[in-house]
Amino acid sequence: MKIICVGRNYAEHARELGNEVAEEPVLFMKPDSAVMQRNNPFVIPTFSNDIHYECELLLKIGRHGKCIEEEFAYRYISEIGLGIDFTARDVQQELKAKALPWEKAKAFDGSAYIGDFKAVTGISNLGELKFELHKNDAIVQSGNTANMVHSIPKLIAYISQYFSLKIGDIIFTGTPSGVGPVRPGDELKGFLEGQSMFRVRVR
Ligand code: ZN
Repeated sequence: MKIICVGRNYAEHARELGNEVAEEPVLFMKPDSAVMQRNNPFVIPTFSNDIHYECELLLKIGRHGKCIEEEFAYRYISEIGLGIDFTARDVQQELKAKALPWEKAKAFDGSAYIGDFKAVTGISNLGELKFELHKNDAIVQSGNTANMVHSIPKLIAYISQYFSLKIGDIIFTGTPSGVGPVRPGDELKGFLEGQSMFRVRVR
């Protein structure tokens, strides 16, 4: 199983980090060792003083595919979910400044928090799904897939030109604006269309 992540897919978020909105999707990956155990708290790693949450809509792949055409892209998604792309922002800024790869900042152990999924059957509004992240009961991120720079079908078509999609792979589709740091004791809660999808504590 692999995790493919999309960067800068919401214009307001790209702007808040001082990045340009890319014409082509920005892609990076996380290994399976990045997946955080459900029910465990997120433990802030010792190598960073600035871990950020990035709440994102997740797509689970239900069918093998390569060079998928946009018009058939939805057939390859079996479930949708919500998760957090935990990012060591200080490490990422250093790597970006040196034009080095981002893995140490984005793909470390525990950096992929994967919440609940639900089957896509019956969901007709994948292009306008609302999701929210609450930190200590304040709403910090509020996204809508309608505001993606690159739509879900476009992402699947683009990604599958480079990386074959396999059953069980997960795509993190990018985060809306409002990213910020976590501190020990924080509690993060994710909601998709008003439904609770995860709850995670930070230690
Ligand atoms: Zn992200």
